[in-house]
Amino acid sequence: MTPVFSICPKHGYLAGEHPFCPICDQELLARKQAEHNRVVTRFDHTMPSSIESHSTSHGDKK
Ligand SMILES: [Zn+2]
Repeated sequence: MTPVFSICPKHGYLAGEHPFCPICDQELLARKQAEHNRVVTRFDHTMPSSIESHSTSHGDKK
């Protein structure tokens, strides 16, 4: 009977065997989702034309 546990450099002791820290994974996922939402809302706020002008901002667009 060997007690299985894992150590996360960020969260420390984790009960059970974990190939990776589930807390870190959750945090990473939440951050990724928040970033994704931010990008989506930003694209939602800006007009599609602004994206076009961004790629062709060589001179005519201020
Ligand atoms: Zn962790």
